Amino acid sequence: MSPAATLASAALAEAAGAIRRAQRVLVLTGAGVSAESGIPTFRGQGGLWEGFRAEDLATPEAFQRDPARVWRWYRWRRAIYGGCEPNPAHAVIARMEPRFPEFLLATQNVDGLHRRAGSRRLIEIHGTIDVMRCSVCSERAPWPDDAVPDADPVPRCNHCGGAMRPHILWFGETYWPGVLEHCQRFAGEADVVLVAGTSATVWPPAALALHGKRSGAFLIDINPEPTPISEVADVHLRGSAGALLPALWDRCSRP
Ligand SMILES: [Zn+2]
Repeated sequence: MSPAATLASAALAEAAGAIRRAQRVLVLTGAGVSAESGIPTFRGQGGLWEGFRAEDLATPEAFQRDPARVWRWYRWRRAIYGGCEPNPAHAVIARMEPRFPEFLLATQNVDGLHRRAGSRRLIEIHGTIDVMRCSVCSERAPWPDDAVPDADPVPRCNHCGGAMRPHILWFGETYWPGVLEHCQRFAGEADVVLVAGTSATVWPPAALALHGKRSGAFLIDINPEPTPISEVADVHLRGSAGALLPALWDRCSRP
């Protein structure tokens, strides 16, 4: 075994040991985990749609100006999500869940792949493409059936008639009350915090990971590239979540 492979194997064993001892596990996932299912980020370079950038569509102002356009964009995105499948990282996280007395998955991803993989104890901190919400009274409803011909381009609220919008956190909006607080409390009492596929430049996951670490959790970071979280993590497993999470879970299951 090469020195690098020996190191990687030792890191895997150390992470597996911490997970085996854990009663309370927090998993944080981000765009990297979805990317392995082929889901694009819709942001940055080349992310134009009908001449608009994601940053110009995912805002309350864009919705006020042209709600039908925002709906078209999200329907298009949801169709792409529908063509993607959960990958081994999603599957392993779903399999981990029932093995711990306390378990929470907090994801930044809105594509619903974690739920499709079977995760139930999860918080989608940026919302989900499977739910819509009234822009007036906040009543929530399942996403409309996009296959219905001539459907209203902007669905209406059954309660107040207001315009429904995707239940997704947009640029310039604050987190829904209680969401981050709940994750923060969980992180503060976690034995293990496992971060996968999220860049530490997005602060809520980074802040949760660091809070967990400061409160005594064993911090595991799985990322192809080192991030500020990797630097403080007890173990940084360098590579894709789709490859490393199954390897890690397999290691946990061995005596
Ligand atoms: Zn309403």
